Amino acid sequence: MFEKILIANRGEIALRIQRACREMGIKTVAVHSQADADAKYVKLADESVCIGPAPSAQSYLNIPAIISAAEVTDAEAIHPGYGFLAENADFAERVEKSGFVFIGPRPETIRIMGDKVSAKNAMRKAGVPCVPGSGALPDCHEEVRAIVRAIGYPIIIKAAAGGGGRGMRVVHTEAALSNALVITRNEAQAAFGNPTVYAEKYLENPRHIEFQVLADEHRNAIYIGERECSMQRRHQKILEEAPALGIPPRLRDRIGTRCADACRRIGYRGVGTFEFLFERNEFYFIEMNTRLQVEHPVTEAISGIDLVQAQIRVAAGEKLSIRQRDVVLRGHAIECRINAEDPYKLTPSAGRITQYHTPGGPGIRVDSHVYNNYMVPPYYDSLIGKVIAYGDNRDQAIARMRIALSEMVVGGISTNIPLHLDLLSDAAFLNGPIGIHFLEQKLANYN
Ligand code: ADP
Repeated sequence: MFEKILIANRGEIALRIQRACREMGIKTVAVHSQADADAKYVKLADESVCIGPAPSAQSYLNIPAIISAAEVTDAEAIHPGYGFLAENADFAERVEKSGFVFIGPRPETIRIMGDKVSAKNAMRKAGVPCVPGSGALPDCHEEVRAIVRAIGYPIIIKAAAGGGGRGMRVVHTEAALSNALVITRNEAQAAFGNPTVYAEKYLENPRHIEFQVLADEHRNAIYIGERECSMQRRHQKILEEAPALGIPPRLRDRIGTRCADACRRIGYRGVGTFEFLFERNEFYFIEMNTRLQVEHPVTEAISGIDLVQAQIRVAAGEKLSIRQRDVVLRGHAIECRINAEDPYKLTPSAGRITQYHTPGGPGIRVDSHVYNNYMVPPYYDSLIGKVIAYGDNRDQAIARMRIALSEMVVGGISTNIPLHLDLLSDAAFLNGPIGIHFLEQKLANYN
């Protein structure tokens, strides 16, 4: 096992990874920007290195600074967390070429899955059902029209290199196609440095359901159930649960098995997520995330598997210690992402947290790096923590979450806790399942 791991991230996930390392007896190196110098996990780390000024381009995305930090501290492996460099194949490659272990899949795998067109091709070959669509669209608009006609309107044009819910545009008619194509290509080039776009059938009211996988480098792979992630705004998840409501066990097994098979086929290593849209009892693959997800704790809660520790073990070359039949899912878990933002206008709300009280009690887990008097910096995403509620069943998990959020106090800034409390008593959510447009429609009624 590694003796020392460098954590190339910040915020709640830096603390989460640090806790896993400490439990495993692994020393940690925290790298941080000037804005995060006083963070709790920086103080708790065995060593810390400042890698640059506040803007992430100069710190958390600064590859040479991160590699140098690993060199000066003699770390053996680098955990990228999520976001920042977690799905950057060039970073993974640089890490490995510099003699460190990248805690994640091989750089080639990240590269294939980072291009959604090649990811879908790989998955189609592995027998994973995909959303009907095109490959990379050609430059000639006439040819594109023919391709799209064959798919059938409405379609969604998506950036092959897209992520974070950006670089997507729904097109309902042929009249709107050319314009949408030009705009999405330009956006893709500006945001991701790659103008390649593709078209997919636009599913009108699907759910977003994803499967968790875990694989070692000895071609063992398992899936650990699924998560419901339909509660989204601007394609960003805010509340997730496991398991997803009403998925027949045989269908879950069939799709999960396909995902695990696909992992073996592509030589996948580490934790990963297969994202699907789910409509009329059918799963359609949209993309794979080759990293730990924000919402991993709901899977941990119902499976009893520590995904971060498992991820570190397989990165160190260990074989999976459990087989598929050892995976037993029990109970129900919900996660609420606590964001520093106005609950209804959704504008960011950075600043000092003047009062902070965390909830507790049976079945409650809080993953957060904040504390009394913590300054939420304006430079990064608005996530300040996650509350996870576990129960024997969904009703109990929801009841526990409601109590937890009503006990939680975050003073001095705005958070989306009121929105979560509102959702947790919404009849449509309670009766479930809801589709991916539910939250935006609900928010439209407020604004
Ligand atoms: P990103 O990598 O930016 O997160 P995804 O491909 O995962 O992009 O899609 C994000 C979200 O966009 C999905 O959860 C869903 O809400 C919506 N979406 C993507 N593809 C489609 C589609 N073919 N039909 C309907 N909605 C879609």
